[in-house]
Amino acid sequence: MTNQQVVRLPSAIVVADLAALLGVTPIDVIKELMKNGVMATINQVVDFDTAAIVASDMGFAIEEETPAASETAEAESGTEATSTSLRIVDEGEGLQARPPIITVLGHVDHGKTTLLDRIRRANVAAGEAGGITQHIGAYQTTAPDGRVLTFIDTPGHEAFSQMRARGARVTDVAIVVVAADDGVMQQTREAIDHVRAAGVPLVIALNKIDANNANPDRAKQQLMEIGLVPEEYGGDQIVVPTSALKGEGIDALLENVLLVADLQELTARADQPARGVVLEAKSDRHRGVVATLLVQTGTLNVGDTVLAGMAVGRIKAMTSASGEKLKSAGPSTPVEILGLDEVPASGERFEIRKDEKVARAEVEERRRRQEAGLGERDAVTLDSLFGEIRKGSITDFNLVLKADVHGSVEPLMKTLEDLTLPDVRVRVIHAGVGSVTESDVQLAVAAKAVVIAFNSGVEPSARRLADAEKVEVREYRIIYDIVQDVEKAVQGLLEPIFEERQDAVIEVRQIFRVSRRNSIAGSYVRDGSAVRGARCRVRRKGEIVHEGTIESLKRINEDAREVAAGLECGIIISNFDSFEEGDEIVTYHLEQVR
Ligand code: GDP
Repeated sequence: MTNQQVVRLPSAIVVADLAALLGVTPIDVIKELMKNGVMATINQVVDFDTAAIVASDMGFAIEEETPAASETAEAESGTEATSTSLRIVDEGEGLQARPPIITVLGHVDHGKTTLLDRIRRANVAAGEAGGITQHIGAYQTTAPDGRVLTFIDTPGHEAFSQMRARGARVTDVAIVVVAADDGVMQQTREAIDHVRAAGVPLVIALNKIDANNANPDRAKQQLMEIGLVPEEYGGDQIVVPTSALKGEGIDALLENVLLVADLQELTARADQPARGVVLEAKSDRHRGVVATLLVQTGTLNVGDTVLAGMAVGRIKAMTSASGEKLKSAGPSTPVEILGLDEVPASGERFEIRKDEKVARAEVEERRRRQEAGLGERDAVTLDSLFGEIRKGSITDFNLVLKADVHGSVEPLMKTLEDLTLPDVRVRVIHAGVGSVTESDVQLAVAAKAVVIAFNSGVEPSARRLADAEKVEVREYRIIYDIVQDVEKAVQGLLEPIFEERQDAVIEVRQIFRVSRRNSIAGSYVRDGSAVRGARCRVRRKGEIVHEGTIESLKRINEDAREVAAGLECGIIISNFDSFEEGDEIVTYHLEQVR
């Protein structure tokens, strides 16, 4: 056993704080930094790698401070939205039950808004008289048994998937509203596909049962046709008849939602700093930035320093959806806060930082990464899906299918799903008639799917979104071509048309151990240029000892995107820490050859 002291370092830290952490003077730290070629002042922020070098030189063992839950790492690496795994899952002691978070979806005019209002009003009537409810993007209500439920106030699947595309799995139970007079419509199907793709359990509210031309049996029949068999017909789909207009069936609906929620054993830990998502935010002329945050885990307090995307600020005031001033808010609570310096995007995650200095340093780092083009989503293409599946990051080959006429949808879906192999499942997560819409693309983003358009154009807005989100939309005129391409992709046969091109040869000259997991190879670029993110092999005496990617590339301690021949640099390679002096790192890229 060693008696080395362990320090936990955050992703960025001010020199003075680092000194305090190590129990030395700032001058000591500055000297140590200078030895490593970094000129820094006492108030300057250094990144984890730099701090780690200093700390390890001073005899400390280093641990990287990571946000507690496993989902964060996933979100950072961009593998969002393939399954249900994006929900924050707490572990350890102190777990307590939390209210379920519910989203209402369904076809336009089927009664989503009326239902949400009805649920909200019922609660206010029961609660403090004259209570002013304000729309802050979410609210809480109590079921007849006294239990609390949290409702997200923006109905519709666009918002639902937009949030998911940003990596936030917020909803625990979805209510899909189907009007009994209108039945299952296009957006009903879309909503259900979005919910299914997210792996969220759903309850059907069969609304407008009071309407003259209501035909609940027909609606149930239509639900069965899309695979949702109501309980009364021997299936397991909960269908609750409601009249949002008259307030009928609402209690039963809430009870059933709780029943479904109970199966998930929703818990969180309140005894930790809050984490969650931004539901909505705007800038108010008098109050500054007003943001609704949904606390997913931990407790949010007035005075906490919040970091959300590029926005930072100390919470000056906090209000509940019923207008109550709050000092703190626990898991599943939506709150409106004042104090952020910028308007964060809906769906952005938020976390708490020790103070504004630390938070701002992180924002700077995020900006830098953004400018360097890091952290961008990888394109999802028919070619790349196979690679993802093989890496194990996804298991299904997801497709969104649009066709010109109804007659082609069904057979095409079946043909494609029949291409499923023992270890790769082809899933058409949504199929429909008509042009490819923004909603289709949003679903594809959230579910890492490729969009296939068969004789059915692509709306310009959908095309723009697809380009921005790097989703592949493939247009076809011949069914045989679709089948052939997907078949090849599934079997990985699209791969051999890539050839390797060598980019750089790099010599490892010195090894710096920075943590248990990581070593930095102090290197010299002999030939070509080293590019961050590049695929590489480590060669030792002619033998390949590792294949990976260049995870971090530094030039005199600054992150660099590229380092040219004749220059020195520091390199970290993914999942590899056993460099030896004299190793050669050879980087290459794959080029598609026709
Ligand atoms: P949304 O587009 O899904 O949000 O639908 P709305 O809540 O705006 O409702 C659309 C229309 O349906 C409105 O005129 C409502 O008054 C009406 N509506 C909503 N729920 C019911 C209901 O249970 N029964 C009847 N008869 N009408 C309803």
